[in-house]
Amino acid sequence: SGPVAPEASPKLVKSLAPLQARPMWLAGALAAILLCEFSSQFLELGRIAPRLDRILAAFRWPLAALALCAAIPTLSTGWWVEDALCIIFLIMAPLLVAAGLLSWQRGGRSGGFYLCAWIPGLLFVIVRVLQLGLHWPLPIWLEFALPAAFAFSSIVMSLGLADHTLLIRHERDVANRLAERDALTGVLNRRAILAQLRVAFLRARESEAPLSLLFLDIDHFKHVNDSYGHRAGDQCLRGLIDPIASELRQGDAFGRYGGEEFIIVLPGAAAVNAAVVAERIRARVEVLPLLISGTRIGLTLSVGIAALDASVATPDDLIERADAALYQSKTAGRNLVRIHPGEAMMMPAEWVADA
Ligand code: GH3
Ligand code: MG
Ligand code: MG
Repeated sequence: SGPVAPEASPKLVKSLAPLQARPMWLAGALAAILLCEFSSQFLELGRIAPRLDRILAAFRWPLAALALCAAIPTLSTGWWVEDALCIIFLIMAPLLVAAGLLSWQRGGRSGGFYLCAWIPGLLFVIVRVLQLGLHWPLPIWLEFALPAAFAFSSIVMSLGLADHTLLIRHERDVANRLAERDALTGVLNRRAILAQLRVAFLRARESEAPLSLLFLDIDHFKHVNDSYGHRAGDQCLRGLIDPIASELRQGDAFGRYGGEEFIIVLPGAAAVNAAVVAERIRARVEVLPLLISGTRIGLTLSVGIAALDASVATPDDLIERADAALYQSKTAGRNLVRIHPGEAMMMPAEWVADA
């Protein structure tokens, strides 16, 4: 003879008997509510199929009422609770499949995972519900098929959720990258370049490494706008980016401070190194063939440089000094590079020794 299943203790059977099928109904109703909620979230039904989402959400109320009937032992219920659950489920199942198909069709990988995970389970549940509703005898294969199908669903859904998480992380990274870029030029925007400057400033302080800042301003840019139009001005701004960036090293940060002003953070560069980079950028822009709608527009840059030293207390001080040096290059005739002299400049003129 084959193995014999252990019999449930008569005591346990007796104590559970008054509950009848109530726990099963309660679990079924709650699981159906959760399934609707999960499907809505996972397939983003609110976005891809709002009407279907509302219909599925409406199932919550009759299911909750049935759950309540099952949960209150004093309420006298008949087998109609089970019949009602079966009917609701038979209506819900094709809607859930349709939701999965819609999501899949609209390019959502989630829809594919969802269908793959639930279709075997749903088919077996439909058969089981029909079997219950029509009072057919329970075939033994169905009893094993259901848990097997749900084990399969959990594995596929775990993979689907992992895939979903990766996708969301990727979208978040893309959004973060876009949020720190200037829309016109694609370089870091003001907030991002200032954040980079703060990080570089702290690192340089910690490791006692040099750090320099370039402040770039296009010369007579208002004139370009006035002569060729604002659109040509925008194209000029864009056209300067690659030539400037090609003079930088990895680890340097390039951002738009505002208007036609740019900031470049050079970690590891002392003032002399920064001056070499600035001069290369200035010379390159000066000879740049900027062809806008067939017209060659000549542009030049003025650059101010400030380097980190003991008298620089904050990143803002560094910007202020670079800006002051930029002002010097403007007043000295433009298309020039000037370095802020450092602490000496902070002192009254009579204190500074003549060179
Ligand atoms: P300077 O040599 O003294 O720097 O002269 P400038 O004309 O460059 O300086 P000013 O600050 O007087 O003018 C800056 C101009 O830059 C004014 C503004 O129209 C232009 N500008 C600022 N942002 C943009 C932009 O996004 N697109 C365009 N096309 N022009 C811009
Ligand atoms: Mg300016
Ligand atoms: Mg300018």
